[in-house]
Amino acid sequence: MSERQLHDNIAKLLDRVSRAAQNCERDPADITVLAVSKTRPAADIREAAALGLDQFGENYLQEALDKIEALRDLPLTWHFIGPIQSNKTRAIAGHFDWVHSVDRLKVARRLSEQRPDNLPPLQVCLQVNISGEDSKSGADLDALPELAAAVLELPRLTLRGLMAIPAATGDTAAQRAAFARLRKAMTALGMPQLDTLSMGMSGDLEAAIAEGATIVRVGTDIFGPRG
Ligand SMILES: *Cc1c(COP(=O)(O)O)cnc(C)c1O
Repeated sequence: MSERQLHDNIAKLLDRVSRAAQNCERDPADITVLAVSKTRPAADIREAAALGLDQFGENYLQEALDKIEALRDLPLTWHFIGPIQSNKTRAIAGHFDWVHSVDRLKVARRLSEQRPDNLPPLQVCLQVNISGEDSKSGADLDALPELAAAVLELPRLTLRGLMAIPAATGDTAAQRAAFARLRKAMTALGMPQLDTLSMGMSGDLEAAIAEGATIVRVGTDIFGPRG
């Protein structure tokens, strides 16, 4: 992607986020743009960083580790947002700052045990299945209170909030209803230390911001369509 195109995409995106925030009387500064860089080369991330982005999200471990290594000279924050196999937890715990896709206690326990002592606690969100589809990953809403209570006790994790990937739909009302379920699920936990709702992607970030998103995860509208 050309630097000019990337610059224009980022400017347009930040403007969208600002306008979405203003439309619901939120401070745009309370919304973090997480640039989803899966499948993109390290050079694209380096350019995006030069244009001011510093939070990057990756789904595939090996690809992510290569890029984290190649970009070690930059002060970037790395978020793991993909499905987690339990044999991959050690590498995730060792190389990422955040994990958004924790959906079971076994994985949370391993991440806590394997978080290196010289790093700060791993910042985690619990991924919740709010669309009720069997195919989607994420903890069931019913199981969430018990999972959250257990994760809160793990010494090397800091539980920050919830994440969801609702079923894609172009219907704004349906988008908002799904994001509202996640917001209400977090309120219902009654844990005042939780401050993060990771929700909204290129196609639905306005609805997510209207329902309280604090992190929007954007790939396509920053880096262009994936091949
Ligand atoms: C790929 C991905 C995104 C980004 O989606 P876009 O539609 O390209 O913005 C966000 N979150 C997760 C978990 C993803 O896997």
